[in-house]
Amino acid sequence: MSHYLYLDSVPSKLSEQIAPFYVMDVLERAKALESEGHSVVHFEVGEPDLPTHEIICEEAVRALRAGDTKYTHSLGTPELRETIAYDYALEYGVTVPPENIVVTMGSSPALFLAILSLIEPGEEVLITNPHYSCYPQIISIAGGVPRPVPIYEEEGYQLDVGRIKRAIDTRTRAILVNSPSNPTGVVLESAVMKELSGLGLTVISDEIYSGIVYEGESHTFLEYGDGAFIVSGFSKLYSMTGWRLGYFIVPPGYVRSVQKLQQNLFISPNSFIQRAGVAAIRKAKPAAREMVRVFGERRKLMLSGLRGLGFEIKSNPKGAFYVFVNAAHLGSDSLKLCFDILEKAHVAVTPGIDFGSEGEGYLRFSYATSSETILEGMRRLGEYIARK
Ligand code: PMP
Repeated sequence: MSHYLYLDSVPSKLSEQIAPFYVMDVLERAKALESEGHSVVHFEVGEPDLPTHEIICEEAVRALRAGDTKYTHSLGTPELRETIAYDYALEYGVTVPPENIVVTMGSSPALFLAILSLIEPGEEVLITNPHYSCYPQIISIAGGVPRPVPIYEEEGYQLDVGRIKRAIDTRTRAILVNSPSNPTGVVLESAVMKELSGLGLTVISDEIYSGIVYEGESHTFLEYGDGAFIVSGFSKLYSMTGWRLGYFIVPPGYVRSVQKLQQNLFISPNSFIQRAGVAAIRKAKPAAREMVRVFGERRKLMLSGLRGLGFEIKSNPKGAFYVFVNAAHLGSDSLKLCFDILEKAHVAVTPGIDFGSEGEGYLRFSYATSSETILEGMRRLGEYIARK
């Protein structure tokens, strides 16, 4: 007899209809090839390859040993919230009251809390197209409707505020922007951020790649007014993806609502990891800056390698650690092309379709990997293209 009482039950429509994260399929096939003994070059990963700095790890171990293993305040520890506020004053010259900061388990839950705290069912959230893969799903799960507005390579993927204005209608509640951006690497110009802030539309700003900028400067939307909702965290700049530590900065009127959502959904962020977050900001800034310098070198190598292989890159990406390239001359179906490159050249890249319909025909290359790996990947791609 079966142990399952509900054999004829099926997963919910929501869970069944949700779009997959295609790059995970690429990654799983890459892992399978590796387990068969092949070497695979990974350009698909969206996380820094460097280990989390020792200072941060040591602080986490110290906190664990000291018994820092219980639930914390639902909004996060006062110490970390004050340290994040100090960081914004130092980096951007803006005053963020620690009371407006909600610590979360990565920036992903912060994105979910942002939509839940702002959107009535059926209201629209503007996003760019291409956009970070998970945005439409996060918005839909939280009851909103994603409304993509195209951005174009010819315009350096900058937001055209006029186009945004024209997309606003009675159902529009907010715009979700991401700078520095995944997948395009674009860094929004401060004039564009200022203009967008002046529209009277609520801005949710995903600043998870802040600090990872190679040309120009990193900005936060808080420099242009205190009404923006800021999503950020420690995953990228401090190479802490697996630690799951992020935060959400909200205008004062929203703190209690966000707190109630957090209490019910997550109780509190991770305890000892918050102590590691304090150490990251207070002690690991020089290491983070050094990582950005190293990534800057790799960026040059990746750009010249791709251009040398005949890819046209209209303007250099200025932040994050991605190059988004038009590969339509190799194949118009980006997912099919990714699998073909993986099978024949043993190079894993992310299909542009993962980032929305405007991403089709493109590939995303991550340079969060060693220079040797970048050179080897370019060599393999060169052979692949020559055989095509
Ligand atoms: N936003 C963007 C644009 C991202 O690229 C990512 C991670 N790939 C996230 C949010 C989520 O990051 P985390 O939850 O690790 O903070």
